[in-house]
Amino acid sequence: MQTEHTAVRRDRLRTQLAGLEVDAALITRLVNVRYLTGFTGSNAALIVYADGTDVFCTDGRYRTQASAQVPDLERVIERNCARTLAERLHAEKVPRIGYESHTVTVDGLDELRTAAPNATLTSAQQAVEGQRAVKDEGEIDLLREACAIADRALADLIERDGIGAGRSELEVGRELDGLMLQRGAEERSFETIVASGPNSAVPHHRPTARTLERGDFVKLDFGARHGGHHSDMTRTFVLGQPGDWQREVYAVVLAAQRLGREALRVGADVRDVDAAARNHVKAAGYGDQFSHGLGHGVGLEIHEAPTVSYLGAGTLAERMTLTVEPGVYLEGRGGVRIEDTLVVRADGPELLTRTSKDLTVL
Ligand code: ZN
Ligand code: ZN
Repeated sequence: MQTEHTAVRRDRLRTQLAGLEVDAALITRLVNVRYLTGFTGSNAALIVYADGTDVFCTDGRYRTQASAQVPDLERVIERNCARTLAERLHAEKVPRIGYESHTVTVDGLDELRTAAPNATLTSAQQAVEGQRAVKDEGEIDLLREACAIADRALADLIERDGIGAGRSELEVGRELDGLMLQRGAEERSFETIVASGPNSAVPHHRPTARTLERGDFVKLDFGARHGGHHSDMTRTFVLGQPGDWQREVYAVVLAAQRLGREALRVGADVRDVDAAARNHVKAAGYGDQFSHGLGHGVGLEIHEAPTVSYLGAGTLAERMTLTVEPGVYLEGRGGVRIEDTLVVRADGPELLTRTSKDLTVL
């Protein structure tokens, strides 16, 4: 295991404080506290100081857990961690505090201002999210295993004819969820999507009692969580012999998805990656039916930086982990999405979701 020690992550954040023009960062977003400390409980906050005397806070329920998971930091036990740590910064006369303006509520900001009335409160500019976009090999190992669990669960489902005519979307989804847990997932990554027939034309359809029928597209979008890391994969199947329109749409999405994967290069602009796939869909005449971005980062969250979209910004770096998931949705008829989770590597992307993408007739 090559997981970076969380101290290394805090040190990297520390090097950003001067550029943010702050003397300390008050981290209140739980997933960021987890990333920087290893703490997995449901209430915590953290101060990262320029001088390295970082302080962690959680409440009494987590006293024992915190001493095991965060042994290397001073630990404060209080219910309202954000306020407690802001009061501490006030007592220490820290003049400039960086705070997570993208998640602190209006009420929360009022509370920080009351607790540290003399300090300048400045946005931390999603510094931790930016750091999290590039993974270390330990994180990639966790994600690779999460993807392998999802692959095995889907193989199990197909082997037992779990995606058959007469079954409901809800039944298929619950069975797939159960198989992921049996195969070692600590949790599913998100609510499993099972979308059949006309429902497959809805990008984020929630499973219903509709029963699968011959001639349907059946779209499964699902993932396993392992060590806090989220896999994400979509496969679309056909029940019975596919019609010509189904073969055509599937071939367009499959080719676009391959072009998108091949565009995952170190230094590539995310808008160019999106365009690599989208231009193929447009040229085939389905541009208006591809109604979302190409992909997103995955890791401690199912959707995180970077956003791979025509609305995105920035370039890809080595060891970013992200999805490539073009889709074409024909309202009232059906739709296809094909999604993989991959790692950006210097010598070309590493594919983590290994289930075949050939048109599979069940
Ligand atoms: Zn997905
Ligand atoms: Zn996705």
